[in-house]
Amino acid sequence: GLRGQRGWQPAWRDPAPKLAYQVIIIGAGGHGLATAYYLAKNHGITDVAVLERGWLGGGNVGRNTTIVRANYHLDGNTEFYSHSLKLWEGLEQELNYNVMMSQRGIINLAHSDGQMDFYARRGNAMRMQGDDAELLDRDRVRRAYPGLNHDNPRFPILGGLRQRRAGTARHDAVAWGFARGADRRGVDLVQNCEVTGFRIERGRVTGVETTRGFIGAGKVGMAVAGRTSQVAQMAGLRLPIESHVLQAFVTEGLKPVLPGVVTFGMGHFYISQSDKGGLVYGGDLDFYNSYAARGNLPMIEHVHEAGMALMPMLGRARMLRHWGGIMDMSMDGSPIIDRTPIDGLYLNGGWCYGGFKATPASGWCFAHLIATDRPSPHAMRLRLDRFETGHVLDEEGTGAQPN
Ligand code: FAD
Repeated sequence: GLRGQRGWQPAWRDPAPKLAYQVIIIGAGGHGLATAYYLAKNHGITDVAVLERGWLGGGNVGRNTTIVRANYHLDGNTEFYSHSLKLWEGLEQELNYNVMMSQRGIINLAHSDGQMDFYARRGNAMRMQGDDAELLDRDRVRRAYPGLNHDNPRFPILGGLRQRRAGTARHDAVAWGFARGADRRGVDLVQNCEVTGFRIERGRVTGVETTRGFIGAGKVGMAVAGRTSQVAQMAGLRLPIESHVLQAFVTEGLKPVLPGVVTFGMGHFYISQSDKGGLVYGGDLDFYNSYAARGNLPMIEHVHEAGMALMPMLGRARMLRHWGGIMDMSMDGSPIIDRTPIDGLYLNGGWCYGGFKATPASGWCFAHLIATDRPSPHAMRLRLDRFETGHVLDEEGTGAQPN
């Protein structure tokens, strides 16, 4: 269908790196690209390079299950993800790019009275923040999501917490939209350029060593997701972050069977249906530290057991593909956007399974921090020193749920 097209231009340039930049961002994933975009757009800083070891968008930004939501519970996270969802709602107009943002809603299913109580509290926290939340009883869930096994004797569905403004977005398009927007504002996107070390003089970063030579920089931001602890280690920093593999799966295209995103409350399983009709789903981590962007067989069985307990029809669908991504798991399930002890070196990481939904706000807040040296009001609590002071944001069960 595209054969008749003529004269298409690349959506961004392919520049050779300059000798030095005002700001270097390491990592052309969603967060690095969004940071570069907002540095240029919000702060007028365009002497910026984004350095990517592979190809733009080849990391987790192109590997996730595309779920976008703002249903966190704790202060610190609620305001950040709330800001992110608002940015998502205007992102297509902002970037003039179709990111296929689809607010089809998310429901977290409850299977016990305790879970219903907790969802009532979490829903209240969401509404206090100004976001939408509805607590559904079992009949409303049954009517809204008829394709689920509501009467599983072990895990009957008692109700759920729904956020209608949540949904899905086309993940690659998000990377491409931010990339094009940053490039048009003068940012250099440099692919096949791995950062291999930092030059630090008298406690201040002065540039990075790369596979394409040394590049000087006034400021350097790390946005390398699954590689966060490795890259930080090159600057002598030991972070409270571990890397683990998370897998995802997609079936053949089916007629519409799921109206929105569903998370199972009694197993680690979440599912949605793509616009092409494929069921897109995932579950637990592979549970050992790894930098392999592919998963192992036992977890495939485990995820499908949980999936079929919730949605037996899954057993009749043919799985087309599965893949893995490297997750930067922080110790409290919440992210970090902060300065480091090295002057001019900034950290964006610890996104666990949930960084896709954070993409616009992460870029917005990281750009603010790099430009002004002060944290954005939306990310005041996403500090690195919380692991030292004990003021952790423990959303391991809610925020870090893989969706
Ligand atoms: P990435 O795209 O991984 O970007 C980091 C980049 O840094 C990479 O391109 C990498 O090559 C580059 N890099 C690393 N080291 C170097 C170096 N030394 N030099 C130069 N470049 C370097 N989140 C949600 O909110 N919703 C979901 O439904 C969801 N589902 C997920 C499902 C799976 C299977 C996976 C793997 C993740 C999921 N996530 C989800 C999490 C989300 O995808 C990530 O948290 C987020 O994409 C991480 O930020 P990023 O896009 O910047 O990362």
